[in-house]
Amino acid sequence: MQKINVLGILFDNVTKKEAADLAFSHIESGRQAVVVTPNAEILELCLESPEIKEAVISADITLPDGEGALWAAKKLGTPLREKVAGVEFGTEIMRRAAECGKSLFLLGGKAGVAEKAAQNIASRFPKLKISGMHDGYFERSGAENARVIAQINKSRADILFVCLGAPTQEIWVRENRGSLSPALIACLGGSIDVYAGNVHRAPKLFIKLRTEWLYRLLREPKRIGRIMNLPKFMKNVKKQIKLQNEV
Ligand code: UDP
Repeated sequence: MQKINVLGILFDNVTKKEAADLAFSHIESGRQAVVVTPNAEILELCLESPEIKEAVISADITLPDGEGALWAAKKLGTPLREKVAGVEFGTEIMRRAAECGKSLFLLGGKAGVAEKAAQNIASRFPKLKISGMHDGYFERSGAENARVIAQINKSRADILFVCLGAPTQEIWVRENRGSLSPALIACLGGSIDVYAGNVHRAPKLFIKLRTEWLYRLLREPKRIGRIMNLPKFMKNVKKQIKLQNEV
């Protein structure tokens, strides 16, 4: 499997279908795999925080959800084949899991969000086993953390969606994957709000014009802080290009 290096993070150069095939091969074999979908903001944070970088690179499957990674890969002369949006990846995993009797645990979101997501998922994929759910506001250490992990393992879920927001979810998964039994652990951020119907994906035109980020910014102006990191990210990509050219 070809990997594309963007600021030290190795992306899997896969199509949406190949990403789901790869993830499913782990579910079938039981060999645990963690999936992350870092965007430009997280790539930038990885440069600033070794803890975040360690968490991101400890994943087994790294998918480009966002224009930042795609833009950077192209600039670096190693274009990625396509954007694999985490929310679509999650939907495809649920579709396939429903077909072959695999089960899913939903972790994350505010109180009631996972329940609402589970209801919507159940009506879309009636055959999918949702083995349990828990909100994302718990003490991520000590007894409470252990109780949440025990609940996940007791549910015997094959797949765990972790939606605690980035980079919290990547750090939590890195710290706890050894105690978690699901074969596939996918860090999917705000996808749980989309599955719950609380947040809507951008209209198709925004997705086609590759401006989904702009739609999200218009809907949630507080995201401007994240967008402000983009010039720094672009500067660092240019630095990587320069270093490559010097070799
Ligand atoms: N969240 C959570 N626990 C926390 C912080 C956040 O479960 O301690 C949830 C939050 O309710 C939301 C998701 O994580 O459902 C974060 O979504 P956002 O779109 O901000 O993150 P991103 O997808 O950009 O990582």
